[in-house]
Amino acid sequence: MQYEAVIGLEIHAQLLTDTKIFCGCSTRFGSEPNTQTCPVCIGMPGVLPVMNEKAIGYVVKTGLALNCEIPSLSRFARKNYFYPDLPKGYQISQYELPLCGEGYIEISVNNSRKKIGLTRIHLEEDAGKNIHEGGGNESLVDLNRAGVPLMEIVTEPDIRSPGEAVEFMKKLRSIVRYICVCDGNMEEGSLRCDANVSIRPVGEAELGVKTEIKNLNSFRFVEKALDYEIRRQVKALNDGVRIIQETRLWNPEKSITESMRSKEEAHDYRYFPDPDLVPIELDKSWIEEIKEGIGELPDARRERFIKEYNLPEQDADLLTAEKAVAEWFEQAVKSGGDPKTASNWIKGDLAKLLNEENRQISESLLTPKHLVEMLALIDKGTISGKIAKTVFEEMYKTGKDADAIVKEKCLVQISDEAGIEKIVDEILNNNPEEVERFRAGEAKLMGFFVGQVMKETKGKANPKIVNELLREKLS
Ligand code: ADP
Ligand code: ZN
Ligand code: MG
Repeated sequence: MQYEAVIGLEIHAQLLTDTKIFCGCSTRFGSEPNTQTCPVCIGMPGVLPVMNEKAIGYVVKTGLALNCEIPSLSRFARKNYFYPDLPKGYQISQYELPLCGEGYIEISVNNSRKKIGLTRIHLEEDAGKNIHEGGGNESLVDLNRAGVPLMEIVTEPDIRSPGEAVEFMKKLRSIVRYICVCDGNMEEGSLRCDANVSIRPVGEAELGVKTEIKNLNSFRFVEKALDYEIRRQVKALNDGVRIIQETRLWNPEKSITESMRSKEEAHDYRYFPDPDLVPIELDKSWIEEIKEGIGELPDARRERFIKEYNLPEQDADLLTAEKAVAEWFEQAVKSGGDPKTASNWIKGDLAKLLNEENRQISESLLTPKHLVEMLALIDKGTISGKIAKTVFEEMYKTGKDADAIVKEKCLVQISDEAGIEKIVDEILNNNPEEVERFRAGEAKLMGFFVGQVMKETKGKANPKIVNELLREKLS
């Protein structure tokens, strides 16, 4: 039997507000436990929540960027359950009237575009965190995170493979970072996802029984967990075992998913409208204002880069995934850099250097102006393309400009023909055997001669002149 996978994601994205959703406590990550708390977010009796307007604006902004319907009326609801990290005994969330309705995100699948439907986006508060440290019999609770605003984005079951799920997550991360509503930091948990997955015989329209894998906090885990879970379900069905609807956890040490609990139903949570918060009516003019603040999104920018700068699709993809990279590139072009050349340096040498140190482009000492000045030195023949790599790395490390580095390190290209000719003659004299073999037809020895000249000149000889001279003398 051939099966296909059906996947739907529920993504939690922490909003970039300075303060929590219903109180003035800071949302900063990594502080000492319970230092960012107050009577509201630790659930003292008698306190009242006050809505953070910015959080609502951010969810609406996300909805507009993701082609969602924005209903005029929205409401908050209490989701009731008991757990030590939830001091009130209920989470303030949304149920029947979320802030955003249906929308979609487009992803690339095998060189074509595919729309993944969104069911809804709603706003809710995060819970605290249980800490099981020291191996004793106790658990500790840190409530710094309790009351941090989260938006939950729910997709339709439109995703068909772990690869598509990763593409979707990458696109979503790119967009929320572009519009500055979430930092997308998966390691710190500000973007995490629950993956729902089922399988069904190819051609079957009805959905199979799904399992939900909780809290995947990296692209790699999303891919591996789904991949494992699909195989597990296929094997179960082939072995005649029924799949039960349940919540599972990814175990990264063993690379397997494990059963955590049987699935709870909506009625288990006894949702009801939160009487402490008034329903939200969104002002049309406010929605318009938010829309204007969105700016150019990754897909539009990608199309523009292809048209305006004549870049291959692959370059445009890489340059526009991160807003800061796209802006760096455009600055280089505006300062006179050739688009394709600038793109090559960004995708190649710059990406490699940044990667090595796990740095963002915004933290780079090397500026677009540095790159353009260096490209001018190559064009003028002052330095060779090969030396440029050294200059580039030095600019990256020190933040000095190309000119200064070339002078300081004596990297000026040797273009004086007489000087190079002397070295070429020397090399040919010292290697009579190779000269003989080259003349007898071993053409690949050209590389050997060029290499010897370069070695002798520490890479500074103008390669064009070296090649011309060698060809002349060896003919
Ligand atoms: P639940 O009632 O378990 O909360 P929902 O219908 O609200 O389920 O859907 C939650 C998520 O699971 C959504 O992203 C949805 O697309 C996805 N989903 C629903 N049914 C299936 C299924 N049979 N297989 C895979 N994903 C599914
Ligand atoms: Zn508080
Ligand atoms: Mg549901």
